[in-house]
Amino acid sequence: MTLKRDVYKALEDVVGPEYISEDPVILDSYAWRSGMATLHDRFVPRYEAVTLPQNTAEVQAIVKLCNKYKTQFVASSTGWGCYCDPAGPGVVKMDLRRMNRILEINEKNMYAACEPYVIFAELQAEVMKRGLICNITGAGSNCSAMPLAAHQGIGHMSQSLSYGDRNLLAVEWVTPEGEIVRLGSLGSLGEWFGGDGPGPSLRGIIRGNTTPLGGLGVFTKAAQKLYHWPGPAVFPVEGVSPNYTPSHIPPGFMYRYISWPSLEKLTEAVYKIGMSEIAFEVMGFNPGMIASNIATNNVEDKQLLDEFTRLVQGPGSVVIIAANSQRDYEYETRVLQQILDETGGKSLEPVEKNFKYNAGALWRCIRITASIRETCRSSGCFAGEVGGTDVFSLMATYINRSQPVKKEFIAKGLVRNDGLIPFVQSIEHGHQGHAEVLNRYFQSKETADGVMAFVGEANKAAIQDHFGVPAHVWSDDAHDMFGPHTSNYHLWLREIKKKFDPNAASESSHYISAKE
Ligand SMILES: Cc1cc2nc3c(=O)[nH]c(=O)nc-3n(C[C@H](O)[C@H](O)[C@H](O)COP(=O)(O)OP(=O)(O)OC[C@H]3O[C@@H](n4cnc5c(N)ncnc54)[C@H](O)[C@@H]3O)c2cc1C
Repeated sequence: MTLKRDVYKALEDVVGPEYISEDPVILDSYAWRSGMATLHDRFVPRYEAVTLPQNTAEVQAIVKLCNKYKTQFVASSTGWGCYCDPAGPGVVKMDLRRMNRILEINEKNMYAACEPYVIFAELQAEVMKRGLICNITGAGSNCSAMPLAAHQGIGHMSQSLSYGDRNLLAVEWVTPEGEIVRLGSLGSLGEWFGGDGPGPSLRGIIRGNTTPLGGLGVFTKAAQKLYHWPGPAVFPVEGVSPNYTPSHIPPGFMYRYISWPSLEKLTEAVYKIGMSEIAFEVMGFNPGMIASNIATNNVEDKQLLDEFTRLVQGPGSVVIIAANSQRDYEYETRVLQQILDETGGKSLEPVEKNFKYNAGALWRCIRITASIRETCRSSGCFAGEVGGTDVFSLMATYINRSQPVKKEFIAKGLVRNDGLIPFVQSIEHGHQGHAEVLNRYFQSKETADGVMAFVGEANKAAIQDHFGVPAHVWSDDAHDMFGPHTSNYHLWLREIKKKFDPNAASESSHYISAKE
C-alpha cells in the first residue's frame, strides 16, 4: 500500500469500493507482460492502484484528483500493447473496460461513434449488417475500435479503408488537467460527423501519425469514418478457432498471395493496382506471415513456411478483390491479371488452389483475427522494426536496409529463421506505404540487447539517409534523437505537453515529457 490513505479514499469515493483495487494479485496481473520492453523481467512497475471508471464524469474526477495530489494517471482501452505500462512508481491506472458502448452508427453519413472498450470485432459485426465496414488496426479486432487508442491504427484493409489518423472524426477529451473538451462538430452541434469543425479542431494536438500513447489525458468517446462494404451481412464462417473457414467464398470476392521477382516489380505493381483502384486490400505479407496465418499449430506452420519459401519468387503481398457485381468482379480480376502479366507477379498456388487455405485466409485478413498467430505463436515474442508512413517506394527501400542485421540475428539463433523478406503494405490505393521487419525472437538477455541494437541501427539509417521519423519513436530519448533532424518538432511537442499538462499528471514515458 503506497498510495496515501486520503488519496485512495478520494479515488474510492469516485468509482465506489467495487471498482478500485490495490490488492497485490490485481496489481501484479496488470504488471505482467511478455514483450521486448520486459525481456529482462516479466513484470513492469506496479501501478499504485487500478480504477475502473464507468463514464466521463468519473474519468474527469480521477484526473482532477491526480492533479490535486501530485499523482500520475494513465488510461488503457484493451491494454493489448505495452504502451500503457508505467515507467516507475506513482501511477494510478484507469482501465476503461466499463466504457463499452457503441454510441451511434450513422448509415447515411457513414460514421460510427464509440467508447474506448468497444472492440473492432463488435463494431465491424454491427456495421457489416448495414452494408458498411470500418478500418481495423493490424494489431487485431480484439483492440479498441476508438482511433485514439491503437498506436497508429494502420491495418490490413488500409488500402481502401485508410487508417486511424485519417479516419478520426469528433472526439470527447478529458485533458491532463481534467477539463472536458469536445472537438469538431461535437463541440458546436453535439454531433459526431466532423473532426475539424464546425467547432474547435485540435486534431494536430491530440494525435499525429501516432497517438500520444496515454501521455496527454484521456479520450472518452470518438467517432470514425465508415466505408462501403460489398460483402454479406454475416460471413458464412464454420468451425471453431483455430479450425474455422467460410463455407464458401461470397460472390465478388477473391483472395490471392502474389510474389514478384524483385522489390522494384512489386512497387510498380502496387502503384498500378492503386491507380486502377481495383483492390480492397493490398497487405504486405511474407512467406512466414502467410504460413502462420493459415497454420493451426507450429508444426504445420514450419511445413507451410518451407513450402511457401520454395515457391515464392521474391517479396509479396496479399491482394483481395471485393467487387460490387459480377461485371465489376470480371473487370477488376482482368485488370489485376494484366498488371501481374506486366510486372511478373505470380500467385502462390497452394493458397490459390486449396479452398481451406484460401477462404480461411480471406476471412482472417478481413476480420483481422490472426495477428497474434503471425507475430507471437512461433517463438513466443516479436519485435518489429518499423518505418514511418510515407511514400510506398521510400518505405520499401528503408525497410530493406535492415535485412543484413536480421541475417546476423538468425545466424546467432536469436531470431526465428522465417526468411529475410520484410513486409510493405499499401495505404489509400498506393498513396502511402508502411513497412516492417518482423523479428520473431526467442527469449534471452542477448536477444533483448540485440533487438535494441537492431532498432538503434535502423534509427541511424533513417536519420543519415533521410527516411523520415519511424512510427516506433516514443520516449524523450527517441524524440530528442530525431527532433534536431526534422525541424525541431520535439521542441514543439514538448511545449504542447507543458501547456496542456502543467502538473505532469498524465504519465508520458511513451510520449514526451515537459523537461527543459
Ligand atoms: C501483436 C501486435 C500487433 C500490432 N500491430 C499493430 C498494427 O498493425 N498497427 C498499429 O497501429 N499498432 C499495432 N500494434 C500496437 C497496438 O496498436 C497497440 O498495441 C494497442 O495496444 C492496441 O490496443 P488498444 O487499441 O486497446 O490500446 P491500449 O493497449 O489500451 O492502449 C494503447 C495506448 O493508448 C493509450 N490509450 C488507450 N486508450 C486510451 C484512452 N481512451 N485515452 C487515452 N489514452 C489511451 C494507452 O495509454 C496506451 O499508451 C500491435 C501490437 C501487438 C501486440
